[in-house]
Amino acid sequence: MLRDIHDFIDTLFPEMIEIRRYLHQYPELSFHETKTAQYIADYYEKLDIPYETNVGGNGVIATLKGEKPGKTVALRADFDALPIQEENDVPYKSKVDGVMHACGHDGHTASLLTLAKAMKFFQQDLSGTIVFVHQHAEEYAPGGAKPILESGKLDHVDAVFGSHLWATTPFGVLQTSKDVFMAGVDRFEIKVQGQGGHGGYPHETKDAIVIASQLVSNLQQITSRRLDPLDTAVLTIGIFESGSAFNIIADSAKLVGTVRYLNKDVQKKVMAEMERIIKGTCEGYDASYKFNYVQGYPPLKNHAEDAELVMKASSKVDEIDTAEDIKPVMGGEDFAYYTMEKPGAYFFTGAKKEDNPYPHHHPKFDIDERAIPVAAKTLISAYFAYQDK
Ligand code: MN
Repeated sequence: MLRDIHDFIDTLFPEMIEIRRYLHQYPELSFHETKTAQYIADYYEKLDIPYETNVGGNGVIATLKGEKPGKTVALRADFDALPIQEENDVPYKSKVDGVMHACGHDGHTASLLTLAKAMKFFQQDLSGTIVFVHQHAEEYAPGGAKPILESGKLDHVDAVFGSHLWATTPFGVLQTSKDVFMAGVDRFEIKVQGQGGHGGYPHETKDAIVIASQLVSNLQQITSRRLDPLDTAVLTIGIFESGSAFNIIADSAKLVGTVRYLNKDVQKKVMAEMERIIKGTCEGYDASYKFNYVQGYPPLKNHAEDAELVMKASSKVDEIDTAEDIKPVMGGEDFAYYTMEKPGAYFFTGAKKEDNPYPHHHPKFDIDERAIPVAAKTLISAYFAYQDK
């Protein structure tokens, strides 16, 4: 039966491309994805598969009950886009100014919708229940996964699986991890308040640019000198805003950045060290500060046996020739919340476009669309493997 399903999925390839390219042209930002949610709902309406909308926000959940008893397994795809101006010159280029599907969530949606279509066809032979989880707002914490779980609509689910089309992993390669797979992701903002003044009279000021520069430098010592070298964290400052003219000493400066980590103890240590360094540095220069640290998604930890199951299941997918158990990546994912509450695993489906080297969240990001059916096949193979567990 799995072979028949895979063959059927292949016949849906033109439709997958059509869906993916349509969504690509009409991307919507996190928490504003109402038209995409409607598109998804309409698709299930046409398939005559029961669904619910507005789950935990813009989420859409559809349920396909097999004729035979079995476990209930959720398969998740996210559908939000990013605030990026697309720079690809392709027929399906984004038609929305400043918004782009630069992470492949359009492909995730195409993959899961057409999988639902295939499984509707095989419903009479199906054991168990598939819950298709179309999740809004993955790109922006607090995200969509948490409110979907809190809605209680997945309480009856036995396990959750999900795939990310991964543009830096070659086609034909599947990657996952039997432990922590993706990082916890936090963001912070520091405002340094000095005292501005005339560029020719520095002694009458507290130069916010000089103080904030010290902070940038001192904060780097957390990862290089305060953490155990065997622990992992990233501290990146992505925004440094200050100053207004060549002859004015800046009154204030703003630093915005991200912290990435793989376990909670490291996160706590980084937070405490940041507080101490910011306080100490600012006090040393007689400046004041505001420090706002926002905890985002926790680390995504797979369940070992379910990751193993995905790797084995992927051997049944013709296009996949390698399944790798990789070390964690420092990107984040709110899929983390599903595996905190339920068994399951997340994996990358290799989708590297050989003539397009650009990574996720880049204005020239794109995927090898042949990976869309591969993700669908792997998800349904994992579903069957879980039924047999
Ligand atoms: Mn993503």
